Amino acid sequence: ATPTAVMVATGVGANHGVLVKGGDALERAQNVNYIIFDKTGTLTQGKATVTTTKVFSGMDVGDFLTLVASAEASSEHPLAKAILDYAFHFHFFGKLPSSKDDVKKRKEDAFSQWLLEVADFSALPGKGVQCLINGKMILVGNRALISENGVNIPEEAESFLVDMELSAKTGILVAYDGDFIGLMGVTDPLKREAAVVIQGLKKMGIYPVMVTGDNWRTALAVAKEIGIEDVRAEVMPAGKADVIRSFQKDGSVVAMVGDGINDSPALAAADVGMAIGAGTDIAIEAADYVLVRNNLEDVITAIDLSRKTFSRIR
Ligand code: ADP
Ligand code: MG
Repeated sequence: ATPTAVMVATGVGANHGVLVKGGDALERAQNVNYIIFDKTGTLTQGKATVTTTKVFSGMDVGDFLTLVASAEASSEHPLAKAILDYAFHFHFFGKLPSSKDDVKKRKEDAFSQWLLEVADFSALPGKGVQCLINGKMILVGNRALISENGVNIPEEAESFLVDMELSAKTGILVAYDGDFIGLMGVTDPLKREAAVVIQGLKKMGIYPVMVTGDNWRTALAVAKEIGIEDVRAEVMPAGKADVIRSFQKDGSVVAMVGDGINDSPALAAADVGMAIGAGTDIAIEAADYVLVRNNLEDVITAIDLSRKTFSRIR
């Protein structure tokens, strides 16, 4: 393709909300054999809602939610946002907002009123968050986070978790001061176009794979709904990049689509990295493409555009 063709294609892409960083990336996309999708925020809407709260410690449910929301307040993760919204509703149910701005302002005021002070916060990508509240360690995240800190998960909680996971929900476990105190169930609906896009990619001869930090049961339930047969679950961020490299071994061209901080090593390792525009800045920086509309159909648009620019007009 001529430089002019590349320029035109870049412009056409931009008009459709497909931003490509340079001609090389535009060219590589035509040859993609494998496309690796992150789950949360990529295949799913990233608009999680809490469906279940279960306190196992005799703690008051409001106090439990305050603790968890305080710990999550500094996290950028979609799960964290879901928990904060839920806790907000719990504490302020019944107060009708007069406008969107009113809701926003009331939220900010409310948060500053009842969120607890947090020290030594750290986000642990692929696991959850940890920090100190009232001088005691709180952990909010998956099983790995809880058990590697030596906290015992009661059997009753475990069987409750398994039930949630089998119905595609993500369980979030909470430990405080060394004890397991409760859990929450979160559901994140699939993007409406997800199944159609997966089908379309298969028709184009591209093999779809799902990779996620979430647990196996939830991952398999979600993959089944959209027609992805190849799943890699409970993968840490560095492991996501390893998955990319394993598909590249035979010289295949591998694309990665992701939205999170935890996807950025994989986005950088891929031949074609595509970041969801609604995702985190770090993912957007690591990617070759930014899909501004947050619509998975644009994955196909991007590949089509490359094929049209480079294969047909040669
Ligand atoms: P994905 O790969 O699907 O985008 P992540 O790697 O972001 O998922 O997260 C993997 C798992 O780690 C989540 O399913 C959740 O169990 C846990 N996790 C990550 N961040 C958080 C958080 N801020 N709060 C609670 N749990 C979290
Ligand atoms: Mg994600």
